[in-house]
Amino acid sequence: MKIALIEPKPFFNSYYFWRKLPLLGNLIIGSILKENGHEVKVFKENIIPAYNEKNDELHPYLKEADIVGFSTITHTAKRAYQIADAVKRQFPSKKVIFGGSHVSALPEEALLHGDQVVVGEAENVINDIIDGNITESIVRDTRNVDINDIPILDLSMMEGFKFRNGKINMKVAPIMASRGCPYDCKFCSVTRMFGRRYKVKDSDLVMEEVLKRYNEGFRKAFFYDDNFAAIPSKTKVFLEKLVRANLDFTWSSQFRIEVAKDKEMLDLLKRAKCTTLFIGVESINPKALEDFNKNESVEDVKTGIKTLLDYGFYVHSMFIMGADSDTEETIEETIKFSKQSKTSTAQYSILFPIPGTRLYDELIKKDRIFVKDWNYYDGSHILFLPKKITPIKLQKKFFHAYKYFYRNNIVYWVVSRLGFFLWKLHNRKYMKYIRYFSKQLFKKGYTKKKSLSLDLGNLQVNELKVKLLS
Ligand code: SF4
Repeated sequence: MKIALIEPKPFFNSYYFWRKLPLLGNLIIGSILKENGHEVKVFKENIIPAYNEKNDELHPYLKEADIVGFSTITHTAKRAYQIADAVKRQFPSKKVIFGGSHVSALPEEALLHGDQVVVGEAENVINDIIDGNITESIVRDTRNVDINDIPILDLSMMEGFKFRNGKINMKVAPIMASRGCPYDCKFCSVTRMFGRRYKVKDSDLVMEEVLKRYNEGFRKAFFYDDNFAAIPSKTKVFLEKLVRANLDFTWSSQFRIEVAKDKEMLDLLKRAKCTTLFIGVESINPKALEDFNKNESVEDVKTGIKTLLDYGFYVHSMFIMGADSDTEETIEETIKFSKQSKTSTAQYSILFPIPGTRLYDELIKKDRIFVKDWNYYDGSHILFLPKKITPIKLQKKFFHAYKYFYRNNIVYWVVSRLGFFLWKLHNRKYMKYIRYFSKQLFKKGYTKKKSLSLDLGNLQVNELKVKLLS
């Protein structure tokens, strides 16, 4: 069968519009299906669009394909539905299947646009779904996947890349050494998607994949693990093998800050040519860390970043603003800390409720979400009523953070200014709405214009009687 797997592009208003690295879901599912004899093409829409909505034209391969599958995260869900609707309108008999974290949380929503939805991990069921042996419209309970059974990713399926003489013109190899996370941060969709389980792939299998990528010409990799070193003893076994292989191959991955406490791990990471650690720092407001259920202290963050930098790693620190305990002052402190910490690069997000997370459930229950349009669920928009800061002030803090952090780096400063110029251009409606919303808070007496110490308490959206952005 011919199968098209699509990673939809975010709309222009998104932060992530330019991201080029493919997500793993389609590559894994595609590799499994290809192994089973199907013809598969994977579309990452940031690179090659699957559908031109202006002239209602599907990519020729989608017209030929028997089955069209989508891997969705929240801020690409609407684009997935847009393409799926076009497929169904033009070719009603084609089968449309959805997977990914967003539709796992809201399968009924996705079902309005297609035939089947896979909730959770799809590896164990995908062949049966394609072969027609599983016919339920919502396929659940798929979580007992053994990640050692996942084949080496077949990158030749990627549309938009050239694959010649066994080499592909992709710069960074996507690899996975583990799946899931044993922690349970309130805002994170990982544990909702995979259960609170952490699976480590056999180190020999990961090495096999590294060597294959190396022989294809890759000299850089990104390990897509959400928490690369969650079981240090197992991670070290793999790292020792990577050190012994002595490849001219650098790589990066995502870690928790506590990795900095393990000197043996840091030595191994260095010798295994890990260059960049992506760290979910989130905040230096202790109450925010507690509220997120982050299980780390401000001291861990402060000493951790310093240790990693002293070891010579490039540290990319990721911060979140907008916890219930966040005020203008605590956010400012976190922004200032990010600069003082000398972290190599910083990324800031506004807290956003991903469907399926505890944060989402809580905010829905308390009627605090005022933006329902999934296109805005990317971390660069304020979507719910914060408790101690108005929405417009929080939005401005987000812009200010980048301006402040990159003020001495001309290249990053220009890039972030240009990025925000485009962002604002595509978010005029949203900005108008946020300003109006904040004005309503003032008008109804919930905030004082100049007040720094603000308490919006358990204010609900319906008390403001404003139209939702949806
Ligand atoms: S530690 Fe990271 S991956 Fe794990 S639950 Fe928290 S945010 Fe998610």
